[in-house]
Amino acid sequence: METREQRWDRLGQEAFDVLVIGGGITGAGAVRDAARRGLRVALVEAEDFAFGTSSRSSKLVHGGLRYLEHGEFSLVFEAVSERRVLQNIAPHLVNPLGFLFPIYASSKRGVNTIRVGLWLYDGLSLFRSPKLHRTLSRKQVQVEEPHLNVERLKGCPLYYDCATDDARLTLETVLDAAACGAVPVTYARVEGLVRDDRGRVAGAQVRDMLRDCTTTVRATTVINATGPWTDKVRSLGQGGKPLLRPTKGVHMVVDKKRLHLNHAVVLRHPDDARVMFGIPWGDRTYVGTTDTFYDGDPADVCATSEDVDYLLEASNAFFPRADLTRDDVIATWAGLRPLISEDAENESAVSREHEIVVDADGLITIAGGKLTTFRRMGAEVISRALELMALLGQVPDGVRDAHTGREPLPGAVGWPEDDDHSAVAEQALDASQGSIDSDQARYLVDRYGTRGIDLAHCMAADPVLRERLVQGRPETLALVDWAIDKEMACTVRDVLIRRTQLFFRDHDQGLGAAEQVADRMAERLGWNEERRTEEVLAYQQEVALSRRWRSV
Ligand code: FAD
Repeated sequence: METREQRWDRLGQEAFDVLVIGGGITGAGAVRDAARRGLRVALVEAEDFAFGTSSRSSKLVHGGLRYLEHGEFSLVFEAVSERRVLQNIAPHLVNPLGFLFPIYASSKRGVNTIRVGLWLYDGLSLFRSPKLHRTLSRKQVQVEEPHLNVERLKGCPLYYDCATDDARLTLETVLDAAACGAVPVTYARVEGLVRDDRGRVAGAQVRDMLRDCTTTVRATTVINATGPWTDKVRSLGQGGKPLLRPTKGVHMVVDKKRLHLNHAVVLRHPDDARVMFGIPWGDRTYVGTTDTFYDGDPADVCATSEDVDYLLEASNAFFPRADLTRDDVIATWAGLRPLISEDAENESAVSREHEIVVDADGLITIAGGKLTTFRRMGAEVISRALELMALLGQVPDGVRDAHTGREPLPGAVGWPEDDDHSAVAEQALDASQGSIDSDQARYLVDRYGTRGIDLAHCMAADPVLRERLVQGRPETLALVDWAIDKEMACTVRDVLIRRTQLFFRDHDQGLGAAEQVADRMAERLGWNEERRTEEVLAYQQEVALSRRWRSV
């Protein structure tokens, strides 16, 4: 793989057909589609891939059952179709998950209404849901989900959607694009738009946030895929009135030992009946989300004490035996939904569909949508860019179909047809030559897919790479090297927040591992002492931001 410096140099030296601004899932989907069509494409991301909303979602690849309530059938149909496609191209990252939908005597809708909705939901997926829904009796619920409140429970449908790892889905999408010739660069912030002699947007001025220098990237078309920053980037051009009305969503993470769930559970908040979820997450459980309007700086978004109390209230209404308190909260994350403004009366009625806008100066903006539908959104926006190229008479030769719906993401290459994670874990165990245990092997393949086998090889070859980052947890130094060498990680935050995700999973949010990770990165990337210290500090500040709710 090329180094960051080589990719940065290419940004300034080459002429691109498409420049994508923003390395969240939307930009990642666009750049993959473009690269697979044979276009010359670059991606610039101001921070890290999935720095924004794309690492702060509910991590579901789903049709969105509740959109049926609003009659948004086409949105649900598109999403459940995409769920199927993503299960095929990223089976290691998109996994079936059962959702319990408890209906109580006080619930707004009865069991039969929900069951009709679930038939429709399964029907819209052409009955190819991960599994068809069924309804559990109160007794079955007590056995299958012992923490769930069964007082005045009328019935409990069980339906299926998929869970994913949003940050890794974004990352693997970019890695696939890079393997097809795209030039993605992180810590590359767009500060201005470049125009041709007719005033049309034809590139961007980009600052290297790590080395504080700039370059000019030239491209026939420029796509703004900056999620909550959409209007800020549009304002660099001739963008008209703001497109977005962002809402904030907060999740909290607790130890599975405190709230053990076997399924995801659909919760309705006791105060306002908003839908939210409790979701099992390996050795943790997370609950979310809130939904409130937000007009601050997207980079500062974080949970407040009210957000956490709101989530605790819902958890304790549905899982009274767990009796969670603020002390149980290991971590929180807060994300902004880049929702298209529609003068909606309340937050949860704002549309989730995406929109593509081409401004008078040719800047193409794509905003809104969902993680689940990123692949289709990518295809659509690149088709729009090609239309623009056609108008300019600048469609390059040799443009082909992208086939993004059948080409596997990097970790899915060689994945078994029957989606047997344990068979791949066996291969990783063999490759490790006894240097890791079966839990670690499973950990590797669940996150890295078949590339987990390569990681196990590395760990077999070098005992240093087997050093744990946190005692008792599966993450080792090998993941740090892998993040640097294969996953374009440039900072301690990249490694601890979005690659290993110790930030969310470790009781200490990875603070105890920060020095070790910084030492390794300093050694591998040639950082001086000042940079190493800054990196640790920046990580500590990130943890402090996520814990700010505790002190206010
Ligand atoms: P982002 O991920 O925010 O990416 C935008 C990127 O642009 C950022 O990385 C940012 O650093 C970069 N950027 C900004 N300015 C510049 C600049 N000047 N130069 C270069 N780069 C720049 N969808 C689902 O399908 N399933 C779910 O379960 C789900 N849950 C959600 C829960 C919450 C709480 C939220 C908020 C959203 C959820 N969504 C879900 C929706 C989904 O997460 C978002 O639609 C999606 O992540 C948006 O991705 P994006 O790439 O458009 O934006």
